[in-house]
Amino acid sequence: MSACSARMFGFFINMIKIHTLGGYDEVGRNMTAVEVEDEIIILDMGLHLDSYIKIQDSNQIQHVTKETLLKSGAIPDDNNLDKSKVVAIIPSHAHLDHFGAIPYMEAAYDAPILSTPFAKEVLTKIANDQNIKLKNKIKTLEENKQYKTKHTTIELISVTHSVIETVIVAITTKQGTIIYANDFKIDVTPTFGSKTDMEQLKKFNIIALICDCIKADLDEETPSESVAKNMLEELFETQDFANKAIIISTFSSHIARLQSILHCAKKIGRKTLFVGRSLAKYVEAAACAEDINFFADVEMLKYGDQIKKSLKHIAEKRTEYVIVATGHQGEPNAVLTKLAANKLPFKLFPNDVVIFSSTVIPNEENIKNRSQLEEQLEQKGITVFKDIHVSGHAARKDLKAFISILKPKHIIPAHGPRAMQKNLISIGKELGYSDEFLHYSENGTVHEII
Ligand SMILES: [Zn+2]
Repeated sequence: MSACSARMFGFFINMIKIHTLGGYDEVGRNMTAVEVEDEIIILDMGLHLDSYIKIQDSNQIQHVTKETLLKSGAIPDDNNLDKSKVVAIIPSHAHLDHFGAIPYMEAAYDAPILSTPFAKEVLTKIANDQNIKLKNKIKTLEENKQYKTKHTTIELISVTHSVIETVIVAITTKQGTIIYANDFKIDVTPTFGSKTDMEQLKKFNIIALICDCIKADLDEETPSESVAKNMLEELFETQDFANKAIIISTFSSHIARLQSILHCAKKIGRKTLFVGRSLAKYVEAAACAEDINFFADVEMLKYGDQIKKSLKHIAEKRTEYVIVATGHQGEPNAVLTKLAANKLPFKLFPNDVVIFSSTVIPNEENIKNRSQLEEQLEQKGITVFKDIHVSGHAARKDLKAFISILKPKHIIPAHGPRAMQKNLISIGKELGYSDEFLHYSENGTVHEII
């Protein structure tokens, strides 16, 4: 009998331990571990992107050690976790702050990586890019299929977010189910991919809900992705884009948005060109995972030399294309940033159009980079459209409805420090939860749940 067992009603019940390892003191490097008897299941191993990019800037990232990444706060600290107990590592979706640390951390474990087909493809590409050979096998686990361990049944439940094949992870134990819903929104009219499978979620007797709190302060419902598609369509229908170059930048992983852009380009009779390595990575992964194959409709420029060579020709036919370029955060080496700084053989003229189908991720670096980029575009007389975008995170009203339907016994906010966790805790209080069932966490907290 483990030390964490409790005597209740004359017999022993094993406590479930929830280790909150990363993403509880900051936004980023998400990692949580659920311990059931002698098994541990890891949920996400993410990067803290700002810290990671700083290291990238100052080092050859291929030669960076796990220790350097940990010291700089780029990856979660798993030093106190009993690695011999780990039976599965499960990324919830293909965003770097949720699965980007796997290539640097997985070798310390001896457990399969359970992933949807799309996340598997992207993860493999990321590891290859870094010249890292993954020690553990990535096993594909389709949405809504079960995986059994000695003490648990694991299911990946479809959910909507800003990247395809995002899942809520359900770990069912003798005591009940632990639900890991970290990055999701409730979208009943997504433009691509599965809807949130609420019917499946309702079936569980939920002992604990580990839940995204990133937008829990925003007292609204997050709009559907179909709203972002409508915004793009309206822009293309109402603005006069004739004789102008059109450049759009969005999140490379946002396959549904890329599909909407392609749809709009087709409607005005233009070809679509994707430019940039990260776009290629996600688009190729979507094709390999058989989600969507853009290659019949889209031209792709991936590498530096290829981009330079081809853009020279494209520049002569500039009004025949909608160009999708990396760089919506103003990243220094991204394609849009280079276009604005005249570093590519494609000249931007006054009245050309740049559309940001994104928001600025609010950190110091992005705000500075993006404002520099906008200034350069303004100096050139470019027409800029911003925030043609909707969020991928559930806001307060969605979260309240979600918790009311799921009725978890315990609630553990994730994806932010205490000040952000407070917003989800307050939803719990509004729904009548008492303090003993609402749990603040720091990185390294261990919750013992009965
Ligand atoms: Zn995400």
